[in-house]
Amino acid sequence: MRLSSLPIATQKEAPADAEIISHKLMLRAGLIRKLAAGIYSWLPLGLRVVRNVERIVREEMNRAGGLEVILPSVHPGALWHETGRWDIYGPELLRFKDRHDREFCYGPTHEEVMTDIARRELRSYRQLPVIFYQIQTKFRDEIRPRFGVMRAREFVMKDAYSFHIDDASLQETYQVMYEAYSRIFERTGLRFRSVMADSGAIGGDVSHEFHVLADSGEDAIVFSNGSDYAANIEATPAPVPEGHRPAPGATMEKIATPDTHTIEEVSAMLNVPASACAKTLFVCGHEKDTVVALIIRGDHELNAIKAAKLPEVADPLQMANTAQIRKIANSNPGSVGPVGLQCKVYADHSAAHLSDFVCGANEDGFHLRNVNWVRDLPEAATADLRNVIAGDASPDGSGTLEIARGIEVGHIFGLGTKYSAPMKATVLDRTGKNVAMPMGCYGIGVTRIVAAAIEQNHDEGGIIWPTAIAPFQIVIVALNLQKSAKLREAAEALYQRLSSQGYDVLFDDRDARPGVKFADCELLGIPVRLVIGERGLDAGTIECRGRRDSDNENIAMAALDDYLRKKLQITS
Ligand code: ATP
Ligand code: MG
Repeated sequence: MRLSSLPIATQKEAPADAEIISHKLMLRAGLIRKLAAGIYSWLPLGLRVVRNVERIVREEMNRAGGLEVILPSVHPGALWHETGRWDIYGPELLRFKDRHDREFCYGPTHEEVMTDIARRELRSYRQLPVIFYQIQTKFRDEIRPRFGVMRAREFVMKDAYSFHIDDASLQETYQVMYEAYSRIFERTGLRFRSVMADSGAIGGDVSHEFHVLADSGEDAIVFSNGSDYAANIEATPAPVPEGHRPAPGATMEKIATPDTHTIEEVSAMLNVPASACAKTLFVCGHEKDTVVALIIRGDHELNAIKAAKLPEVADPLQMANTAQIRKIANSNPGSVGPVGLQCKVYADHSAAHLSDFVCGANEDGFHLRNVNWVRDLPEAATADLRNVIAGDASPDGSGTLEIARGIEVGHIFGLGTKYSAPMKATVLDRTGKNVAMPMGCYGIGVTRIVAAAIEQNHDEGGIIWPTAIAPFQIVIVALNLQKSAKLREAAEALYQRLSSQGYDVLFDDRDARPGVKFADCELLGIPVRLVIGERGLDAGTIECRGRRDSDNENIAMAALDDYLRKKLQITS
């Protein structure tokens, strides 16, 4: 591609609403443009990256035995009623009606549509296992679309669905897909980790996520330093404190704590560590108009996924509002505590292990000190309610936990018959009996990978594309080419030659200043830059530089092919 023919200008500054680096750089480099909140157009350079990711994903899905399909993005509501998800999915599901007043939704995921195909087409165990996949546009009306294409409302996903005669076959295919995913992310050139995960709204028992490691990642992922245990923090069990709870000490007392609202403020004022305070959080109950109190230690954080699994608690978790809190605790959120509450109370194991602790007094501006379970308030039901923290014991018993940030780019699930049973997707088994097919489903955020790649690979100058997904492998920069016919010819010839050798080449043939061209090269992040200037031309050399290199190398023209093969890691 000739840069002179690309009518998209790069920009020095990103719009103020772009918060993270990948979003800023994608806008500045002209890869994407925003149409509406969470809805983006892909421009030529950006689309080339998407296509590269798709190519890797498609090759590996085919290699794993997947059959490619394209399913509709608009789904009849009736299908979603069959599995009950029409009512469960919540406002992320974009619903609308057609001219006949019939319900439809825009597909956020395709279990229902795929299972509908399966129940029509699959008849016998002999046809199984089968894997269908598609690379297709999804719509999820995300509550907070942000970070550009990272958390968009409209985005491209690869989703695959497998159908089986029994669980053993599902497990086998799950393993094949796990390996295919590992190869996909290896081939993209990104640093990633697979972790055990919670299966969320999709459901099922086993699930793994694949995360691109980046400090800006929305997910906390947890590793053991003593084993290969790795899990999303959402799905990591916290250790239960060992030994007996210490015996109560001094008598409970009420103390004035004016203008303190947070655990930090209270612990500073009373000079006690946050770990000796109990934090009380109210969440909406499963039954209408009920609330449940959750008690966790002051230095811990609530784990929303774990809390939503409590039988009395609404799923997904919803915090109670101030009016509900005032009604149950007679005070504002900054002064609430578990003593005297008339609702269901759960204490996290660590909070249940506290003695002589500090908590809100359920009276504005007051806290209680030296509070003890049993003596001052009834023993609460206990549960694992908190996020693990660095240094906690690993759930597998080996080593302690460390925490890193990750961007979820893939998620695989063993679903069982969650969809096939209600939708009656059955086949005849060996004995002639009709059985519901166990299913697996496997997602990859194709467009999210593009943003994740940039989060992980950039510098002050701009993007640093991993070669496998870069929009171009090579950029040729011709300096002052309007002044020299010889130079123009040489640059043109090099562009033609490298292109015909099969390289993806971007040719900066613009009539622009060298500084502008170099800055754009950095911003666009093409792996190899070749600069043609008069001096090199006379000497028979060309100035070469990898995007991560700090210096140029002058390479003899005759040695250029070798240089490129090595730089671009072309093996054959
Ligand atoms: P998240 O927790 O990030 O919302 P999810 O668990 O809802 O993701 P899945 O339903 O597993 O996601 O979807 C499969 C993949 O699609 C995810 O691993 C992610 O890479 C991608 N994805 C999900 N939601 C979005 C989004 N809003 N924008 C871009 N990609 C997304
Ligand atoms: Mg989601």
